[in-house]
Amino acid sequence: MFRKIRWSDTEGQAVCPHCGGLDPYECRRSNGALRFRCKACQKDFTITSGTLFASHKMPLRAYLAAIAIFTNEVKGKSALAMSRDLGLAYKSAFVLSHKLREAMSEESRGRIVGGEGKEVEIDGGYFGGYVKPANNKADRKDRRMWENKSGKRKVVIIVRERNGKSLPAVFRSEGQALNFIRSRVAKGTVIHADESNAWNDLHARFEMKRINHEEGYSLNGACTNMAEGFFSRLRRAEVGHHHHVAGVYLLRYAQEATWREDNRRVSNGEQVSRVAGLAMVRKPSVDFSGYWQRHKAV
Ligand SMILES: [Zn+2]
Repeated sequence: MFRKIRWSDTEGQAVCPHCGGLDPYECRRSNGALRFRCKACQKDFTITSGTLFASHKMPLRAYLAAIAIFTNEVKGKSALAMSRDLGLAYKSAFVLSHKLREAMSEESRGRIVGGEGKEVEIDGGYFGGYVKPANNKADRKDRRMWENKSGKRKVVIIVRERNGKSLPAVFRSEGQALNFIRSRVAKGTVIHADESNAWNDLHARFEMKRINHEEGYSLNGACTNMAEGFFSRLRRAEVGHHHHVAGVYLLRYAQEATWREDNRRVSNGEQVSRVAGLAMVRKPSVDFSGYWQRHKAV
């Protein structure tokens, strides 16, 4: 399956990643592991060379099982549950699940949403900092001020095209997301957003529909329910599974939630081959190459 995904143009026949040579031959390692050698350039490679699963420790079959377990859990799978299900050490499951998030992130990389006649919802949700966000609605403003000072608080921005794809990003504040929105939402798009002042500058470029949540009314049919649905699911994942969605990996969790949202109507079998395919086009992990060598104390 990995061969067919990696070398789809040649129906699974190995292609040299160094020179593009089309007639490599099998040249197994002394332990029997599959490896190829290119006739043209004499270099060795494996199915996963140059991909997210490069220098993998487990057999590839185990990665398929891991992907199936990971994608099958609608709200997200914790590393602890993954290590139990697969009989892996916790740290292996931790690194593996982050690699799968990296693979999922590949799908929305560079994505442009919207366009003429299309509608997009944008919304921001704050994560991290000292006070747990789920417990606290009444003193929202004070909390934001305090946490902005602490520097740990970040806002996840979600841009969701109706009947289309989604796009996540992470910033310090909603205001800092404006250039991102301008560059990734196509001209001619109608944008739905809440009453937050941060979005006011977008009126110069887009037709905007604003909804005032405190008063509970919508202007011109403005509605951000889809964007809010994304956050309620991301927060449930935070409470139920991951506990600390915030921090340096906040974007990865947001990308995972985005992928799940965009692929929710796809069968589990198809989800598995999509994530496996994304892992094969993704370059070796930016987050986790040598992670445990760098974090010995963890
Ligand atoms: Zn070659």
